[in-house]
Amino acid sequence: MSEVEVVLEGVSKRFTTRPGETAPAALQAIDLTVTRGELMVVVGPSGCGKSTTLRIVAGLEEPDGGTVTIAGRSMDGVPPQDRDVAMVFQGYALYPQMTAREILEFPLKMRGVERAARTRAVDEAAALLRIERLLDRRPGEMSGGERQRVAMGRAIVRKPRVFLFDEPLSNLDASLRGDIRLEIGQLVRRLGATALYVTHDHVEAMTLADRIAVMRAGKLLQVATPREIYERPATSFVGAFLGTPRMNLIPARLDGREVVAGPFRLPARGEKIPAQLEVGVRPEHVTIGELGEPGEILAVEPLGPETHVVVRVGDVELRAQSHGFDTHRRGDAVHVAIDPDRAMVFDAEGDGARVA
Ligand code: ATP
Repeated sequence: MSEVEVVLEGVSKRFTTRPGETAPAALQAIDLTVTRGELMVVVGPSGCGKSTTLRIVAGLEEPDGGTVTIAGRSMDGVPPQDRDVAMVFQGYALYPQMTAREILEFPLKMRGVERAARTRAVDEAAALLRIERLLDRRPGEMSGGERQRVAMGRAIVRKPRVFLFDEPLSNLDASLRGDIRLEIGQLVRRLGATALYVTHDHVEAMTLADRIAVMRAGKLLQVATPREIYERPATSFVGAFLGTPRMNLIPARLDGREVVAGPFRLPARGEKIPAQLEVGVRPEHVTIGELGEPGEILAVEPLGPETHVVVRVGDVELRAQSHGFDTHRRGDAVHVAIDPDRAMVFDAEGDGARVA
């Protein structure tokens, strides 16, 4: 059975701004359980409370309410250095005058680990991260990616129970991000460590996570595997946040036993469907061809392995995705169909909960 490692129960936080001013809650009753060895990615737009959640687990921030438990132990009043966690964040500041070896050794020195054991731990971490040849260099003599690897090395030498990553890739260029993303995933899994990984990047979330926790405005909306989040998003926001090109959201309404979304009609499934709806259709479930409703191609974006096509159908604009190169051209008259079995129906009001 999977062992529970990090538990947040009813964690809330409100920052005090100026006297007399009440800031909105940064976190509202967050409940989250991370099991041992799991890589949990916390994702959401800027300002939704991801970093605050991580900093509360690290002990860098006190919650106003609720509890954090790590390995069965309440973290109430436990300072960061006694929590058995290591944090890696964006633009990690490495001491400029130290070599990589000294940087990696530092946390062990602070703990009074003797020299031979320190050397062994540093060599082991350097081998894992493939940074052996950097050990004698200072941060000023390294690339951004190399510095990020050293920062990770500094976190792993201590063999913490829990890794906390806060946007560790955001300062790297796009191609390096992909490589280091892969390395972080492999490293965390090789170490069998538990990790909480914060990002606003949905690709990082989908590719790295065992489970994804989606946040918005201080609330946790859904915690599930990447596939479940993608195929069965709890709300229209979750559906639109994960996936590129973005899910199409079409304003819709209930008409008897049918859902009417622009020119499309779908059978209404399920009970108690509200009157005002939104239909969500992923671009790969929009087909352009001979069947369906008449439309016009507005734009064609070939990417190589796939093509994104923007098409107008009635008064609705949809994004479609097809394999390889698409022969359609701007201005073409076409027919457009959506896959009724894959279309999702959301409440247009409240939190935009999925109803079918
Ligand atoms: P980003 O992706 O932009 O880093 P985030 O999801 O990590 O965003 P947080 O940094 O957790 O968001 O911030 C959540 C909310 O709390 C925001 O509204 C932010 O302005 C506020 N906040 C965070 N830290 C403080 C602070 N020290 N004092 C006041 N308000 C704060």
